[in-house]
Amino acid sequence: MKKKIIGITCDIKGKFYESEIAYSEMIIKSGGIPFYLPMTTDKYAASKIISSIDSLLITGSRDIDPAFYGERKSKFINPLDKNRTLSELLLISLARKKKKKILGICGGMQLLNVALGGTLHQDIKFNIPDAIKHSDGVTHKIKIFPGTFLYKLFKKTSAQVNSYHHQSINILASPLIVSAETKDHIVEAFEDKNGKVLGVQWHP
Ligand code: MN
Repeated sequence: MKKKIIGITCDIKGKFYESEIAYSEMIIKSGGIPFYLPMTTDKYAASKIISSIDSLLITGSRDIDPAFYGERKSKFINPLDKNRTLSELLLISLARKKKKKILGICGGMQLLNVALGGTLHQDIKFNIPDAIKHSDGVTHKIKIFPGTFLYKLFKKTSAQVNSYHHQSINILASPLIVSAETKDHIVEAFEDKNGKVLGVQWHP
């Protein structure tokens, strides 16, 4: 079978792009061909980029301006990169149009939810005081719902995963269903009904 080409989004750090090496290494290990993508809001370029890949990986490591989901910025929001968010939103909308598969990891999952019409808790500790710890790379248990695509991957109803997030899904976008959660009901994974979108809150 022909190897799938996976486009990976990047952070914009001044004059440079930055993304974790682990993304490309794990894609190669899993039998895919990774490409780190330039972040652009040029529609023609973005459209050609999406046509050139089989699937899109939206990576983590940033907060999204709450203005994108109709809220004012609280003091818990980390420095924002608006150009990255705008570029990723454009890539997601083109990937949806061209029926490409999209995987969102951590902050990438949160952005996917916003792109499809959902909202976020700006800070778990502030918004859900009795939630378990989700930040600083702790590990916690998730419950995986039978009948989901995620369940097909894991073949079990629970797993231990890492956790590096201070935000979480608040209102889930309407095309999505929850495929895993923690005991405090934080959404840890979602997917859409036609198998084109998967979001995971941990770093696989
Ligand atoms: Mn978590």
